[in-house]
Amino acid sequence: MRDLDECAADWFNDKIPNQWSRSHVTDFSKCDMLLNNGCESFNSSILEARDKPILSMCEWIIEYLMKRMQVNRDTAEQRWAGSFCPKIQKVIDQNFAELGDCISIKSDNFHYQVSCHDGRQYSVDLKNGTCGCRKWDLSGIPCKHALSAIDAQRLDYYEFTHKYYRVDYYRMVYAPAIMPINGRDEWNPTDQIPPMPPNVGRFVGRPKKQGGEKEMKLKRGGEKGKEEKC
Ligand SMILES: [Zn+2]
Repeated sequence: MRDLDECAADWFNDKIPNQWSRSHVTDFSKCDMLLNNGCESFNSSILEARDKPILSMCEWIIEYLMKRMQVNRDTAEQRWAGSFCPKIQKVIDQNFAELGDCISIKSDNFHYQVSCHDGRQYSVDLKNGTCGCRKWDLSGIPCKHALSAIDAQRLDYYEFTHKYYRVDYYRMVYAPAIMPINGRDEWNPTDQIPPMPPNVGRFVGRPKKQGGEKEMKLKRGGEKGKEEKC
């Protein structure tokens, strides 16, 4: 990295390797994304509700989740016929399409040494679901090297792809429904204190109403500008 860019190497120097390097990231989550896009998407989707009073905001979020859960449930029930969710199947198909790039040598029934045309070589362990490139370990989706070994052993990739990506698991995630609620006129009165906004006063300047993503992008832009001067 230092050969390519001195500044980039210095910038990474004080960062914890398991936050940016595939070789150090834990494989527990079965996710190869290191982004907080999930929070950003949620934040921007509730933009319309964020300046509402607390109860109205909660009602808006309930309706939003109720619709979203049902749409996802319908999609998986009516449109997805395969074993795996379509985006995952696409990744597997792409990896299959690159099998011609791999030459696998059998070491024993579970271990293969896989070489690629670019000179790289990886050790694949079918028993533990690992490959030297770590893509399989991190994501749970067999990389092209793993598929090459699976194919050579005449096995089914279904058994080697993490169950989290199966359509039946997706359906399980969205099986619980957000139940409908009666309007406020029908609610039972309680002697609890009604929820009120926090008493923090008003901040100086125009109130912010931007999605988290936009704020992050602006921030990143600032940081980028700083890096370029380095
Ligand atoms: Zn691999």
